[in-house]
Amino acid sequence: MPAPRRYATDAIVLSRFDYGEADRILTLLTPGGGKIKAIAKGIRRQKSRIGGSLEPFAELRLALAHGRTFDVVTQVEVIHPWLRMRDDLVSFGTASYLGELADRTQEERHAGESIYLLLKRAFELLDTGMAPTRVARWYEMHLADELGVRPEVDRCVECGRLLEADERYRWMPPLGGVLCERCPGPPQDRTPLSLEALKVLKAYQRMDVEALAALRIRPAVEAEVEGAMRAFLAYSLDRSPRSLAFLDEIRAERRATAAPA
Ligand SMILES: [Zn+2]
Repeated sequence: MPAPRRYATDAIVLSRFDYGEADRILTLLTPGGGKIKAIAKGIRRQKSRIGGSLEPFAELRLALAHGRTFDVVTQVEVIHPWLRMRDDLVSFGTASYLGELADRTQEERHAGESIYLLLKRAFELLDTGMAPTRVARWYEMHLADELGVRPEVDRCVECGRLLEADERYRWMPPLGGVLCERCPGPPQDRTPLSLEALKVLKAYQRMDVEALAALRIRPAVEAEVEGAMRAFLAYSLDRSPRSLAFLDEIRAERRATAAPA
């Protein structure tokens, strides 16, 4: 039986670019169909029937028609615009980063409902005003889990021994997590990891997100955990996401404005 010509789906717009005179090509994440490319025809014309409602990172209800190269968007309804998330630059920059991670790790037309729900939850949290760095770490940790590359933070990646509180640890992304002090590991690239940072990494794996939001973490430890997760994902994904440069720039600017003169 041929696939039905028309279908409806929820979708989050991961990215979009202008195409031809008035069209736009969208990369969408959907719960049932995974990542798909679709075209919104005539969307950039003022009188477009679909309207300007295909903003990146909004959750939409779409009607689509199967097309030869791209599916064609025929109707759009906005379910969650997440305006608050969009209103703050750091939170918007974080949303771009999380969206890019989903885009980069998902193949087209591979069902990925868990990734869809994870991204949606992260956007909800950003929209309620949860600290973007907490949302980002929580998302990174769970995304790694979904991709089957959960970082090891309980046992030494080399000897399998349970890590103890009074030893020195090293963070070894190529080996998949933490290395104990007894194992030599490769000679170069021995990034030390503090006990506090190790505890926070464990918390991101175990605690639910509401509890994480309330956790007290020193800024230096937060930065250490961020560096550790970035190094881990850069290794697992093979390169750093482009949107990180944008996010770093906004945050540096904000720190500069916030600092007393
Ligand atoms: Zn060991």
